[in-house]
Amino acid sequence: MNIILLGPPGAGKGTQAKRLEERYGVVQLSTGDMLRAAVAAGTPLGREAKAVMDRGDLVPDAVIIAMIDERIGRDDCAQGFILDGFPRTVAQAEALDAMLARRGLELDAVIELAVDESELTQRIAGRFTCARCGAGYHDRFKPTAVDGVCDRCGGTEFVRRADDRAETVHTRLAAYRSQTAPILPYYRSHGLLHTVDGMAPMDEVAAAIDRELAVATAAGD
Ligand code: ADP
Ligand code: ADP
Ligand code: ZN
Repeated sequence: MNIILLGPPGAGKGTQAKRLEERYGVVQLSTGDMLRAAVAAGTPLGREAKAVMDRGDLVPDAVIIAMIDERIGRDDCAQGFILDGFPRTVAQAEALDAMLARRGLELDAVIELAVDESELTQRIAGRFTCARCGAGYHDRFKPTAVDGVCDRCGGTEFVRRADDRAETVHTRLAAYRSQTAPILPYYRSHGLLHTVDGMAPMDEVAAAIDRELAVATAAGD
């Protein structure tokens, strides 16, 4: 099963992608995580991307497309993948179609998580992750069970993203509106778009995604 999770920053793509990984045995491909790993490792790609990400702008299409093309070719994608944060422009969506066609692969569904902007700002402001295992949390909506201790791995170090500060969030939301939202009609016209209410609690969003995937895979047979 090959899926795209689409939605503005803070919509819950990463949260839901991790659940889908466990439930369907598919692998999460997060371009944001890949870029942050490159920044942390100080690779040439990371050095190029860092300033762009800190501003809240999009990294150039060519860079992202090459990164995903290489990633989709690896063995662990054979059971399927969830694209989280890609494509983010029409050019990326078209490049994705070409790279899938070249490999004889198809998309099963594009799941859009629809969330109001005021809610996104709150979700991003409270977001933090475990530095050791990457589990995602929120100050109010998903705190750790024991204060300062990761539920999943027991780690006690947590990180907040440099681009999650209020000034940058504004730029990222504008980039979503002007560059990413235009790909919604593209997938709608291909009959692939399924919109889910991302304002609901996490478990309800997960259940709604499952229902949409059941519809999509039945229709695709
Ligand atoms: P994205 O990957 O789309 O940027 P995340 O999955 O990182 O979004 O979610 C952003 C923040 O909101 C995280 O702190 C997460 O714990 C929280 N969150 C995710 N889904 C929900 C939800 N349905 N209700 C409330 N908070 C949520
Ligand atoms: P969020 O989870 O908040 O939606 P991501 O982690 O997906 O954010 O992305 C963080 C940043 O990485 C983006 O603001 C952008 O600078 C860069 N980035 C990630 N994916 C892409 C992409 N497909 N195209 C261009 N830039 C990207
Ligand atoms: Zn952890």
